[in-house]
Amino acid sequence: MPLPRDARVWIERTIAQLALEGPGNRLVDFAGQAVFDDPLVGVADGDDPLFERFRSVVSPRHLLPREVLSRYCAADADLSHVSVIVWALPFTEEIRRSNRGPDWPSELYSVARNSGGALNDEIRRDLTKMLRDFGWAAVAPVLAKEYDAFRSAEHTFSSSWSERHVAYAAGLGQFGLNGSLITPLGSNVRFGSVVTNLPIKPTPRAFGTHQAPCLESHGQVCRLCIERCPVGAISENGLDKSKCYAMRRAVRERCLETYAKTFHMPLGEIVKNGKRESGYSLGCALCQCGVPCEGSSPRITLEPRTLSA
Ligand code: SF4
Ligand code: SF4
Repeated sequence: MPLPRDARVWIERTIAQLALEGPGNRLVDFAGQAVFDDPLVGVADGDDPLFERFRSVVSPRHLLPREVLSRYCAADADLSHVSVIVWALPFTEEIRRSNRGPDWPSELYSVARNSGGALNDEIRRDLTKMLRDFGWAAVAPVLAKEYDAFRSAEHTFSSSWSERHVAYAAGLGQFGLNGSLITPLGSNVRFGSVVTNLPIKPTPRAFGTHQAPCLESHGQVCRLCIERCPVGAISENGLDKSKCYAMRRAVRERCLETYAKTFHMPLGEIVKNGKRESGYSLGCALCQCGVPCEGSSPRITLEPRTLSA
């Protein structure tokens, strides 16, 4: 199989190019401004025991990288290495700044989130195709028929491939009080991933715990995401997914029709309860904006500071 001379560099450059130069990275209704800045890329060993652990902390249905890849390659494919490539796409500062107001996500953030979601699907598809064109096996689990997102008695909502958790496995960050993964580029990012048999050295997890520094003192040192959430979905105990879901559904019900008529809103893939369809992706993310972990890993002090709007 042809191997790019430096697989890691090739992967990083390719993902950056797909993200920054993809037409979906430009918002035609907002003077062509970009959705995402330079991405961050990490790699996990597909046989990392963490993936088994995700079957208890995320869902018993969580896919194992080797298992899903083996369904998308020739029977005699060499699976001596399985790598999970994961990327974090950070929203630009202008978009993050627009979402620092109280109570309701901004129009700009909403349109950018939807465009960014569709672009992220393109990146998953394009990277998979490029790797296959090189002769490697590759699959984007979120786009595979095995992927599902569903209600769960234990975890309220769950999925069979959590890119947030997979990003943790790939050394991209630690979990904050609001449940976001806080990367060196902050928590206001979107994750994507592809599993391949291309051997790439895993990214070390350069931290001793899965919890972000803000939780070192049981969440007492910052807590700004608690204040920022308009529906009280965050507490010292973490995120109440039901309250958060109700807020996101309210945003969708109030805004989607108008946004879809007013703005260029590309469709992405939406999966729910075993059904896959084209749809729009709106969200909230007020707890990721106007907080110390918005665009970088937080520098925790005993005197929390908000970012100015
Ligand atoms: S806002 Fe503060 S407490 Fe909440 S996740 Fe970010 S750093 Fe942690
Ligand atoms: S996304 Fe919105 S509703 Fe959900 S926890 Fe964050 S601020 Fe609250």
